[in-house]
Formats: sequence, C-alpha cells, structure tokens
Amino acid sequence: MKSAALLAALASAVAAASIARSDASCLTVSGDAAWPAKSEWQKAMPEIETQKPKESWTQPPYRLDATTVAEVIAAINFTRQHNIRLSILNSGHDFVGRNDAPTGLTLSVSGLKGARLLSSFTPAKDGVPSVDSKTALNTLPTQKGQAYLTFGAGYNTRELNSLLAPSNLLTLGAAHGSVSVAGGWGQTAGHAPLSAKYGLGVDQVVEYKVVTADGVLKVANEATNPDLFWALRGGGGGTFGVVVEATIKAHPSQKVAMTQIWINTTDYNDQSSIYPFAAKFMSEFTAWQDKGMGAYYWLYPNAMSIFAFYSNDDASKDWMNEQFKPTMTKISKMKGINSKTMVFVPLEFPNFWAFFKQVWGDMPGKGGEGMPGGMTARMTASPAPPTLSRRHGPGDGAATAARGIVYLDSWLLGKKELQSDKWASVLKAAMPNLPGGNLGGQFIGGGETIKLGNNDPTSVLPAWRQTYLHLILYAYGKPSSLPLRQFAPDMGAYANEAYPRTHQNWQTTYWGKHYPKLAEVKKKYDPTSLFWVTPGIGAEAWTAQPDGRLCRSERSSTNATAAFAPLNDNKNDADPHVIDEIAGSAFPIKYSG
Ligand SMILES: Cc1cc2nc3c(=O)[nH]c(=O)nc-3n(C[C@H](O)[C@H](O)[C@H](O)COP(=O)(O)OP(=O)(O)OC[C@H]3O[C@@H](n4cnc5c(N)ncnc54)[C@H](O)[C@@H]3O)c2cc1C
Repeated sequence: MKSAALLAALASAVAAASIARSDASCLTVSGDAAWPAKSEWQKAMPEIETQKPKESWTQPPYRLDATTVAEVIAAINFTRQHNIRLSILNSGHDFVGRNDAPTGLTLSVSGLKGARLLSSFTPAKDGVPSVDSKTALNTLPTQKGQAYLTFGAGYNTRELNSLLAPSNLLTLGAAHGSVSVAGGWGQTAGHAPLSAKYGLGVDQVVEYKVVTADGVLKVANEATNPDLFWALRGGGGGTFGVVVEATIKAHPSQKVAMTQIWINTTDYNDQSSIYPFAAKFMSEFTAWQDKGMGAYYWLYPNAMSIFAFYSNDDASKDWMNEQFKPTMTKISKMKGINSKTMVFVPLEFPNFWAFFKQVWGDMPGKGGEGMPGGMTARMTASPAPPTLSRRHGPGDGAATAARGIVYLDSWLLGKKELQSDKWASVLKAAMPNLPGGNLGGQFIGGGETIKLGNNDPTSVLPAWRQTYLHLILYAYGKPSSLPLRQFAPDMGAYANEAYPRTHQNWQTTYWGKHYPKLAEVKKKYDPTSLFWVTPGIGAEAWTAQPDGRLCRSERSSTNATAAFAPLNDNKNDADPHVIDEIAGSAFPIKYSG
C-alpha cells in the first residue's frame, strides 16, 4: 500500500466516495441509455476485458482481473457511480452461484497476491504492514508456537500451505486445494480437515483489509471497525465489501496419521444393514473428534468408505491402529455387514504438507496419486465430462472462472443427533433416491470448533458451535435434506454448501440469531446494497428481473413473511456429474466371496 500510485488511487477513491450510488429503483443494464460507453469503462479500468455469453452460459459483459487494490477501488467506484451490478469472483467454487450474474461487471480478485509471515500479531488501528504481488514470502525459523500469515485475498489453500511448508507451518483451508482462503470460505464459516484441532476458518482470521461500497480501504480487526470484523467472520462473501488482504493464524505443522476404511454389506443387494453400522460408527466417532480427529466419509445404500486423519506429535500408523481398529472390527460384525471385506489402510506423514500433497495433490487438477484408492480411485472411475473441466477454473495462479451451480443439499448435526436411537432410520430416509445418490459426511466439527464458540467472537451460524457432522446429499439431480431438517430443526445449514434455491426460513437456517445484527452492519457499510448475493445478508433489498436487472424490493430484513430468499438469477448450472469430482458415483467394491 506504500506506492505513490496506490496513494493517488486512494485519494481519488475518497473523492469518489462522495458520489453516492443513485437511488434509482432499478440498476442499469447493457442497452439502457445510461449504460456507459466502452471508452468510459476503459478509462476507469484500463485492464478491463469484454465477455460474451458462451452457448447457454451467461456472464457479465465486462470483467476485470484485479491485481492491485487500486483496481478493486476503481471497480467499486465505477459500478456504484453508474448504478451497475457488481459480482466478485475468487476461486469460482461457490456451489450456490453467488460469484456470477447475467449482467454488470465481474471483478476477479484471484490475482491479489503477496504474503508475509509474522511471528506475532497485535490488533492496531492501521493494521499490519500490507502486502502486494511483489511481496516475497519470508520464512520463519521452525518454531513451536503459533505464527501469523498476511496474504493477498487471491490465494487458495494449496498455494498458502505450499508457501508455509518451508517454515514448517500450516494454515486451515478447504479440503480441496483450489478453494480460496479469504473469500467465501473464510468469510462464511470455512471447515477444514484439521478443524477439530484448530477451529473453523472464521476462527483463524485476526485481521481483514476490505474495500467497502464507498470505495475506501478499511482495516477490520478487534481494534478498528470491530463490527465489520465480526460480520466478515461468518456473514458470508460478496456482502460487506471486497476483502483484499487477510491475516490469519499459522500453526506449527505436526505429524499426520490417517486411515482409509472401506466396508460393505454381505449381500450386495442389501440396502438396509449399512445404516445401523454407519449410525454406530458416527456415534463413536464424536469422541475421537473431541481429541482433534477429523474424517470424511461417503455412504452408499450398501457400503461406506471412510477417510480419517489426526495430526499431533504422537500421530503414527500404530496410534491409528490402536485407536481405531478395535472399534471398527467390533462394529463391522454388526448384522448384515461383512467384516471380512473391511479394508483398513493406515498411513503416516511427517507433516501436514506431505499429507495434503498426497491426498489432494500439490498441483492444480492432480488428485493424491499415491492414495490407495479412495478419492483418486473414485475420480478415475468417473472422469469428469469435458464440459466440466471447461467450466472449472484453470487453477492456481491463473484467472479463475465461475464453475456453475451444483444442486446438493446439506444439514449440520450435533452429538445429540448422532447418538440418537433414530439416527440410523433418519440416515436411511436422507439417502437421495436419485442416480449417483450418496451421503457425504464431513466430520469437521467437535473439538476446537465447539470450544472456540464460548463467548463466540464471530458471527458464524451458532449451530456450528454444536456441530460434529456436516452431512451433504449428493446426486445427479436435486436431493433434499428435508428428513434431516425435520430431525434436527434447531440446527441449520452451511450457506456455502446448501441447496441453491435456498430453504424456508433462510435467514435463521444460515445465520441463526445473528441475522438482524448482520443486517444492521450491512446497512452501515453498504447502505445502497452495492454488494448483492442471495442467499446473503440483506438479500431482501433487491429482486432480480429476467434481464439481470436488480430492482428495489418491498421486502425488509425484518419481514417475517420473507420465508424464502430472493431467487438468484444466475442460471449457469454445472453439469450434474460435477459431484464425481467432489464425492463419488457408484461404490466400486462388489463382494463376490
Ligand atoms: C470442490 C469443492 C470443495 C470444497 N470444499 C470445502 C471445504 O472443504 N470446506 C468448506 O468450508 N467449503 C468447501 N467448499 C465450499 C466453499 O466454501 C465455497 O465454494 C466458497 O463459496 C468458495 O469461496 P471462494 O471465494 O473460493 O469462491 P468464489 O465462488 O469465487 O466466491 C464465493 C463467494 O464469496 C465472494 N467472495 C470471494 N472472494 C471475495 C472477496 N475477496 N471479498 C468479498 N467477497 C468475496 C463471492 O462474491 C461469492 O459470493 C468446497 C467447494 C468445492 C467446489
């Protein structure tokens, strides 16, 4: 932030801030008399590019790949002054399609780079020294304690952990290397493989730098703009401003032990016996979560595959065997389950990066080639159709693209639910009765995610602080989490991995008791609703018209009749087979013994 060019841009931003967004009842779209000429766009944003719809794939007519904060400020000022819709794009992974719109400007922030390690952090009015794309990462001598990482908002999990590896540090991020850390992931909740040990993504952030709707760069930490800082840790991406930089915790990397388990029913056609087994496994697993263990599983009507991991100085294959195998062997003798076909493969790694590389790959698009089956096997068994790779962003270091809407559904569940007598039958009812249907269990709660919720300093959906399991329903179709919602009505859903057409009572489903206060913070920092995503805080402000034009809505955030969020007019649906990349299609093992 020290360069003369940036200071000049900031000064012009302050001047521009006095020009308010027009109070017009509708936004301007291409073809309107008020739509600026191309030369005006280019004058304000010299690097801007035009975009055309691709087949049935709609996109805004202009796109800016920002690499500096000054460009972000210019994009915000231009769209505000000209009453034009603005979409923020980072990794493009949003399942709900909130990174894209049929009109206006796409502001891509994945080019905001630069990182610096700090050995300590104290919240201050001016924030930490800023980074830009020329800031080369320093290394810290290997240390036992926690450090902090300041980075441009365009980095993803894989890039950050690769940068941290020489200092033997790690940071939390999605279990998919290409998801951005300071975008929708870190601003909504952010669950990670090691969440049970270190908390959610929102628990990692100690400072954000954000350009708000007035075009002004603001520091948000516990000392400065604390209300904005609170809102940015749970209120969701694309809502309060454009985050350009984050400072987050970096934890010392320790050994990792993992195990993969596959199990199926004795009779391949038996589509009942797996549920009592799975329910028992999940009920037992909560105790391991409180020790810091995490797991992902995929449950099919006749089989289950589990992938569990634990990071600590004592983590080893032997530790995993001792902890896990006796219980698994015991419960795999349950009725209808074939313990002879249980495959149990423990592995160990010297540090988190070695584990991450093997499981999720160290290069864009690469799975964990060394994995004995599991994710890689499923992906190989069901290669993504060509349309998918075309729509998926090209990966690290490159400009990203919106990947399209995915019709999954999900619900958060606590210990009480996982230990309920009804759990096995609820699981069975929840299994999507659709082609490719399976339940993707994410054991990313418990442990620190619960403890850090005491006097919660974040605005994350309070149900996260009781969550042990985030259960996702996958299918080639539109699965429904209704049986889970009816079973656990007081919990809620993760807005990033939810049904795209939103749930009834969406405000409490995604934000719980925090919604009214989040709506106030939204009004304070974005009074004319420049930033609009749905579902999102303050989504009631606009209604999308068929031509992509947003018009002021009569609804208000306190209107109890606003049971459903305004419909998103992004109609770019991903190929339904995209779930093969995230979950699995048919279970590969058929027992013939
Ligand atoms: C394959 C896959 C794996 C996933 N794994 C996980 C997981 O392990 N854990 C988990 O919690 N989630 C996971 N997710 C869901 C993920 O949290 C969401 O897709 C999330 O919205 C991605 O945020 P993004 O910024 O990377 O993506 P984008 O789609 O680019 O952005 C998402 C939203 O955030 C806004 N946004 C992005 N950057 C900024 C910014 N700098 N400032 C303000 N707003 C911004 C966008 O406008 C949009 O509304 C996964 C998704 C996929 C597709």
